[in-house]
Amino acid sequence: MDCIFCRIAEGSVKSRTVYSDDRIVCFHDLQPQAPVHVLIIPRKHITHLLDLSAEDSGLMGHLIAAIPQIAGILGLKDKGFRIVNNCMEMAGQSVFHVHFHLLGGRSFRWPPG
Ligand code: AMP
Repeated sequence: MDCIFCRIAEGSVKSRTVYSDDRIVCFHDLQPQAPVHVLIIPRKHITHLLDLSAEDSGLMGHLIAAIPQIAGILGLKDKGFRIVNNCMEMAGQSVFHVHFHLLGGRSFRWPPG
């Protein structure tokens, strides 16, 4: 199975890394939708949120708990940011390796389009 985000996580495809550790990687999106737009992924290949199981709770807790540190690196702690997950095609998912978009540097509308 050829997954672009697995390749980024293993380093065989280059990305602009913001943060990485033994379980997660955060890198800049190729097509930014805001002044700051990064993706946070687990190194483990999980297709989307519906494929999570109880054994992933530690991993996903670790990912969410890294957000304050990542926001600090990106200079977003004063004004805030938006986290987005697109789960499956109807929501707009285009890369089938679970990821969270972290967007900042501008205002966002609600509801989203
Ligand atoms: P989604 O549509 O929610 O699945 O988001 C996938 C995101 O991955 C899109 O915002 C793409 O711009 C981004 N993307 C796809 N390939 C790459 C890549 N090689 N490096 C960085 N971002 C990418």
